[in-house]
Amino acid sequence: VKSQGRNALCFFDPQMQIVISMRAQLEADLQMALTARQFVLHYQPQFHLDGRMVGAEALIRWQHPERGLVAPGEFIGVAEESELIVPMGHWVLRTACEQLAAWQGDERYRHLQVSVNVSARQFRQRDFVARVVEVLRETGARPHLLKLELTESLVLDNVDDTIAKIGMLKTKGVRFSVDDFGTGYSSLAYLTRLPLDQLKIDQSFVRNLGVRHTDDVIVQTILGMARNLELDVIAEGVETEAQKDFLARHGCVYFQGYLLGRPTPVADLEALIESATAT
Ligand code: C2E
Ligand code: CA
Ligand code: CA
Ligand code: CA
Repeated sequence: VKSQGRNALCFFDPQMQIVISMRAQLEADLQMALTARQFVLHYQPQFHLDGRMVGAEALIRWQHPERGLVAPGEFIGVAEESELIVPMGHWVLRTACEQLAAWQGDERYRHLQVSVNVSARQFRQRDFVARVVEVLRETGARPHLLKLELTESLVLDNVDDTIAKIGMLKTKGVRFSVDDFGTGYSSLAYLTRLPLDQLKIDQSFVRNLGVRHTDDVIVQTILGMARNLELDVIAEGVETEAQKDFLARHGCVYFQGYLLGRPTPVADLEALIESATAT
């Protein structure tokens, strides 16, 4: 600390001290929550243009004994900055694959794909590929129904490692989607080098479709590019018919957002499918 000279002063800033100890507390709480099995997965449905539900994205929540259901925005950041995201991410993957396997045994749900978010630290683990393969084998989930969502910045950070790992899992049948697409500085060059299946247009562009001209142009460009590269595109954060219409008109085929369904517990998602097939 001493050798950092003047900058070391910030360690004695009482405000900073509070922030540091709050983070440390949260980290300890998260560790405890993992052991106490307080995390749950909710599933947000994904739809084809024709109205079919094609799958769902698994999204983590913390079922806190006093605070109730806590959204990932309040803890994923801290988990990602610590090693905790690794066991947490592994729990998410295993739980989602167990759900996939359960759905495969029921003809009403066996077509559903499950998307799982993978964070950078988890993906960069040396044994990441082996662990995914192991979870698939142990749960019996069919690999081609599993889709891993990697953020654009993760994919770009170490392209060679990314290519190697995606390549190995693709031979098993696992699919890949680039989350938050459009928010980084992606070049066409890397897209063509990666064996991807899907781009997910970030909700920040969807939000202002038809309102902010630059976002209209960005979304049209992404859709045109994806068509040339023969990649699927899903739009997230679709909240209005106007947004969906704009996207559909420009070639988007898959949709996710509050307009079509919020993240819900498994039972509610199954009920939604039931009611859709009953009509
Ligand atoms: P994300 O992967 O971009 O997930 C989409 C987020 O947008 C979700 O928030 C979802 O509930 C929300 N959303 C969906 N439709 C709409 C909509 O129509 N309008 C609006 N305004 N929002 C919508 P959520 O569940 O709070 O998750 C936030 C972020 O936390 C996720 O963003 C993801 O980055 C992270 N996360 C969630 N679960 C996991 C996980 O299991 N592992 C990792 N590594 N990260 C996760
Ligand atoms: Ca995601
Ligand atoms: Ca996203
Ligand atoms: Ca996001």
